[in-house]
Amino acid sequence: MPEGHTIHALADRLQRRFGGPPVTVTSPQGRFAEAAALVDGHELLAATSAGKHLFLEFGRDGEGVDRFVHVHLGLIGSFVVQPQSSLAMDADGGLAVVGAVRLRLAADGYVADLRGPNLCQLIDGEEVGRVVAGLGPDPLRHDADPDRAWRKISRSSRSIAELLMDQSVLAGVGNVYRCEVLFRHRLAPLTPGSRVRPASWRTIWADLVELLPLGVAFGQILTMPDQVEEAHRLVGTPEQIAHMEGLNGERLGTWFPREFFVYQRTDQPCRVCGSRIRTQVVAGRNLFWCARCQRRR
Ligand SMILES: [Zn+2]
Repeated sequence: MPEGHTIHALADRLQRRFGGPPVTVTSPQGRFAEAAALVDGHELLAATSAGKHLFLEFGRDGEGVDRFVHVHLGLIGSFVVQPQSSLAMDADGGLAVVGAVRLRLAADGYVADLRGPNLCQLIDGEEVGRVVAGLGPDPLRHDADPDRAWRKISRSSRSIAELLMDQSVLAGVGNVYRCEVLFRHRLAPLTPGSRVRPASWRTIWADLVELLPLGVAFGQILTMPDQVEEAHRLVGTPEQIAHMEGLNGERLGTWFPREFFVYQRTDQPCRVCGSRIRTQVVAGRNLFWCARCQRRR
């Protein structure tokens, strides 16, 4: 499943390619046709993300209702942005459609095709507010309040590994960041939230605020210290990256070798102590950790 940094980068990309001119909005597959017609020909005012949720704001319709397309990719969804010139023409001279495209945006030489989302619906601003309110703070958002997450974590008997994956506690963090951040700070993943030290939570949050923008910028999850350092050297501080036009999410996965401390390294030796990396299903996904290194709470 795409983690929050992927959706954040996608929002940036959609904003850059489709913000401004009127956008042709269609549903070649038909399942979103009625809703698409309501925003077709409107301007895309903003593309934003909160955790793994994407919102495309198209402004008010004739009756004064503000319209947002709300997308959640789920496990298998994809939203691919490409130049129209890279698509073949169909028999009628229009742009060809490949597969079941739920939603297509087209404007200014670019096309974006949404396939297989978990969710694609038209909602109003109030409903956007409700979705966002149901999510925990997103470390990629400048308005995020980590104390909101801490209030839930510190009162919970569930493990910190489980809580980090709960989107109502913390938005946008998926399995890779969960495993890697817990290792980076040597935190025992099965510690109940109520027994996690406040300083540990502050460390986790600060680390996510540092690491996620690098994920956005490079289109890959970077957690190894040498790679993180090199990434910083290449693009500057996370603060600068977040505002860097033309870089966010455009460089997909080609910069660094795929390397993690614990993620998907079951039974391999820990890179720090040599112990066997363990795995166990926590919150529906495989948690990976080193029981010898990760003892802090
Ligand atoms: Zn270890």
